[in-house]
Amino acid sequence: MEKRVAVVNAPAHLKGIGPRHAERLARLGIHTLADALFHLPLRYQDRTRIVPIARLRPGDEAVIEGGITFSEVVRRGRAMLLCHLQDGSGSLALRFFHFNSRQEQLLGPGNRLRCFGVVREGRFTLEMTHPEWRLLGEESPPLERHLTPVYPTTEGLHQAAWRTLIGQALERLGEPGQPTLQELLPETLRRPFGLPPLAETLSLLHRPPPTVAPTALLDGLHPARRRLAFEELLAHQLSLRRLRERTQRQAAPPLVGSGGLSRRFLERLPFALTAAQRRVLAEIAADLAQPRPMLRLLQGDVGSGKTVVAAAAALRAVETGAQAALMAPTELLAEQHYHNFQTWLEPLGIEVAWLTGRLTGRARRALLERLAAGDIQVAVGTHALFQEAVAFAELALVIVDEQHRFGVHQRLALREKGQRGGRCPHQLIMTATPIPRTLAMTAYADLDTSIIDELPPGRQPVKTVAAPDSRRAEVIARIRQACQRGRQAYWVCPLIEESETLQCQAAAVTAGQLTALLPELRIGLVHGRLPPADKEAVMTAFKAGALDLLVATTVIEVGVDVPNASLMIIENAERLGLAQLHQLRGRVGRGDTDSSCVLLYRPPLSQIAHARLAVLRECNDGFEIARRDLELRGPGEVLGTRQTGEQSLRIADLLRDQDLLNAVRHAADRLLRQHPDCVEPLIRRWIGAGARYGEV
Ligand code: ADP
Ligand code: MG
Repeated sequence: MEKRVAVVNAPAHLKGIGPRHAERLARLGIHTLADALFHLPLRYQDRTRIVPIARLRPGDEAVIEGGITFSEVVRRGRAMLLCHLQDGSGSLALRFFHFNSRQEQLLGPGNRLRCFGVVREGRFTLEMTHPEWRLLGEESPPLERHLTPVYPTTEGLHQAAWRTLIGQALERLGEPGQPTLQELLPETLRRPFGLPPLAETLSLLHRPPPTVAPTALLDGLHPARRRLAFEELLAHQLSLRRLRERTQRQAAPPLVGSGGLSRRFLERLPFALTAAQRRVLAEIAADLAQPRPMLRLLQGDVGSGKTVVAAAAALRAVETGAQAALMAPTELLAEQHYHNFQTWLEPLGIEVAWLTGRLTGRARRALLERLAAGDIQVAVGTHALFQEAVAFAELALVIVDEQHRFGVHQRLALREKGQRGGRCPHQLIMTATPIPRTLAMTAYADLDTSIIDELPPGRQPVKTVAAPDSRRAEVIARIRQACQRGRQAYWVCPLIEESETLQCQAAAVTAGQLTALLPELRIGLVHGRLPPADKEAVMTAFKAGALDLLVATTVIEVGVDVPNASLMIIENAERLGLAQLHQLRGRVGRGDTDSSCVLLYRPPLSQIAHARLAVLRECNDGFEIARRDLELRGPGEVLGTRQTGEQSLRIADLLRDQDLLNAVRHAADRLLRQHPDCVEPLIRRWIGAGARYGEV
């Protein structure tokens, strides 16, 4: 185990670091010298060499030396001291806005200076404003021997304090009698990638020799950065593995019925399962038969038919006399699932309950009692509803839909919720935002994965076009045409306002305009602020074909399933991300007619928005879209960690360090087998003792 906060090892005991500094450091999570050493520079300055003035480019930060050829106080409004500095290769202007008479004298013609500052393009020559400077005598003082680190910091902690702190920490690193910085990556793991040892890594990053290009240190390609990225990814991998092992040690009810109930259900469906659905269902059934909790991620593109698989899985629980719960992220989607499950399962004599926020008072109490008594076999609701005190007689399976908005922490919380009497329910997590395989294995290392990689037969790819807002009239004519042919359409008004209220108002205004322009159509409006009963009424009417056009906010993003709807207009499409656009578009193309999607945008398009719309025009495959999305946006957003605030990586970058991911997984296997004593310290070092997934 790594020693924590040994007193001699605390920053407060260093020269130049007082209690005030120590307090600020503690707020940054730095309690030991080792912690400080993992606080890496943001960038570097090169003060190791003198650059000839003629070689400077705007934006450079450099040391120069030269003689002052001209010096004058210019009074145009605010007084300014202007000097010219010449070094034989060229000359440059220095500007000072704060100066006293002594400084004015020192900066007089004939004197020699050394300056360090940022070079800017001036009107006549290159300039430095307020450089650091010192007067030179006969001899030049020595230059720095290392690149100068610039640390990310907070108020009251100056760069000088950081340099003092880190400098002393580095010196103590190798001293006898000092708690050492433990090397947690055995040589055998480092060698194949040429990753340097930890002590060398840290001393290089804090004190790079002048031969190292600062850019190489910052773009993450230097072996020292790669070493830390590797270690960090490994720590995350290990913490997820440990979580997984803990789950595997828990007990769960083995669901080993004959499978007759789910077979009867499948026989009654108007379609046959696709091969992919059958394969995935078999994987799930095999997991459910085990006496330890299933923890499976079911990935499948929009419209690939995950709901049927979920229902068949639920029946495995019901068959053994246990219960299943299905959670959806929105009330709208929960309702949709409820209706599906009801239609499918009630004919089999199974009672399905909808836990809605609208249910209050006695009716709610009665429902909860029947759930607790086991009279109801399947419950559907939003996550929020399940978070309240809902007791089950015997909950054996929890199905979570559209989990991509949730991170590890939420998964964990759910798992703990479901725990009763030492037994854990099985868990199936469904997501329509497929993520590339290596990324999935890294981000979801605590889960098993099943993939539905096939759409039901007969699906027509949705034809997608992008059109500027100026072609609105044409688009409206197209809606009229489609609806006259008995088709239905969506008009989506995505978030362009900060507040949900304003967004809903905007949707209402659009609905009003469209009603005026298309008087012959029956137009409905649905948004997040509508009372649930109204929302339900509108959705039911649209499903039944009693409405031609549904104007909606992005509440319809997930799950809404109306096969007769074949046209979708998405306004302000340039504001939405790829995954969301693909998700929305998935609301059409569910029937057997040609479907299309019009992405309306407001020019001018930014480069990235242009690229996104192009991807959607060219591509209908969610996996491919996810891959392109990753390239365009970076993994943080693809995984949805931005929204959930899940702990992000400090040094590693899933996209840049992709080539390490496989190796990291293997390294995790090896470390667990051969060096189990390194596991805990690694997790502590990178994820911290307070991390949820560090808890026992
Ligand atoms: P998603 O994976 O996006 O949740 P759904 O489960 O909502 O997809 O399924 C989309 C539509 O496809 C539904 O209308 C569903 O009944 C239908 N469906 C599912 N599986 C099949 C299949 N094997 N053949 C034909 N239609 C199917
Ligand atoms: Mg779905």
